[in-house]
Amino acid sequence: MTPLDESLNAYSFLTDLQTSVGARLTGTPAEAKAVAWLENHCRMLGVEPETETFQYQPELLMHRVRSLGLVYSIVVLTVLSLTLNTWSILLGIALAFVVFGLLWRRLARSAAKSEGRNMFAGVTRPWHEIVKRPPARVVILCAHYDTAPSAPAWRRRLGQLNDAAAGLAFLGVLGLTLFCIVYGILLAIPGLRGLATTILVLWRSAGFWLVLAAGLPGTVIVTLAALTYRPAQAMPENPGADDNGSGVAVVLSLTNDLKQRPPADTDVVVALWGVEEGGVWGSEAFVDRHKNQFDPANTIVLNVDGVGRGTHLVAVSGQGVLRRRAVDSTLLQKWEEACRSIGASTIREWLTPLTGSSDHAAWLDAGFHRALSIGRGDLVPIALPLRILNRLLGLPTGAQQANLSHIHSSDDSLQNIRPESLEETRKAILVLLSRI
Ligand SMILES: [Zn+2]
Repeated sequence: MTPLDESLNAYSFLTDLQTSVGARLTGTPAEAKAVAWLENHCRMLGVEPETETFQYQPELLMHRVRSLGLVYSIVVLTVLSLTLNTWSILLGIALAFVVFGLLWRRLARSAAKSEGRNMFAGVTRPWHEIVKRPPARVVILCAHYDTAPSAPAWRRRLGQLNDAAAGLAFLGVLGLTLFCIVYGILLAIPGLRGLATTILVLWRSAGFWLVLAAGLPGTVIVTLAALTYRPAQAMPENPGADDNGSGVAVVLSLTNDLKQRPPADTDVVVALWGVEEGGVWGSEAFVDRHKNQFDPANTIVLNVDGVGRGTHLVAVSGQGVLRRRAVDSTLLQKWEEACRSIGASTIREWLTPLTGSSDHAAWLDAGFHRALSIGRGDLVPIALPLRILNRLLGLPTGAQQANLSHIHSSDDSLQNIRPESLEETRKAILVLLSRI
């Protein structure tokens, strides 16, 4: 299963992308250079590239204001819990999450004025024909080509503390919510007023302080992030070799494989998303526009994101906390069997707003359960507060996750990519495609 021509293997594609384009920050000339590079390479592989534009909102200071807004409204609500009716505190918590979650995203979408580009190429038929006459069965092989700005050095040095701080802060929110519900109910039952008073005393003397303390590290980190804000272009370079030159390279080498030996009765499309960093804008716009043209039961989306290093192949098994979307379990099992058959180790990860996301997300949200994101990494333990939070919320997560500390930093360079990692990922996907 080695490509016939050595120059068409994933590592050669990646080397070429990193040396002739390098960082591909959204909104910069390098982004346009990357699209031209992708178009050239598609033509070289014998598939015709087509692009589609979409609107997005660039990463601005406003995004930091969103986290500040959420964090400080929870702090204020915690303080108000000492005096105000607990049902109004609960309402406040719900409102804070709606305003700084859903509503904020809607507003950003309606204000989106910058133009991004997705690139498509039909491997089995031209893309515009596939969209016009949707196939019975389609495999969409995809990866984002943009890169993120480099995260500030202080934040990288904090490393895992970010995760621990976020986990602790949300444990605090859970504690505050629990107090409001329990106290509110006890107060409403005439015979239990005494117990309600005891709970209130406990809250005022210990619970309240514990919740404030739990939120403190997260509050400091979010405040520092807002105070040290700099526009993306002014930040040090992130070469983006693993995130996500590696995904682009693997998808291109698979394009070559599938062009030579297309799967039976299936159309194959390559999709290269723009503006994944800072809000998965490209894939979301695509799903919004085209979801009705594809049948969720016969559409398989394989998204490749960050597969250039690390010991384990990572499969995203689902996402969400309140509204949970799981990936089709048969697809996951087949993926793991495919990995096992070539001796590759695997791990599953469940994504939440605290873990970040990728371009499978809009598909899962739109009811396409056969949408799988594939990544890679060395395994590291999940921070204890996050593990406790996940357990309390009943999320299907384990004790370990892929180490992503190198991404969005100058450390994400070509020198740190393992060609064997790219090759193993490519082989695993080819085996999967031969079995579905
Ligand atoms: Zn990525």
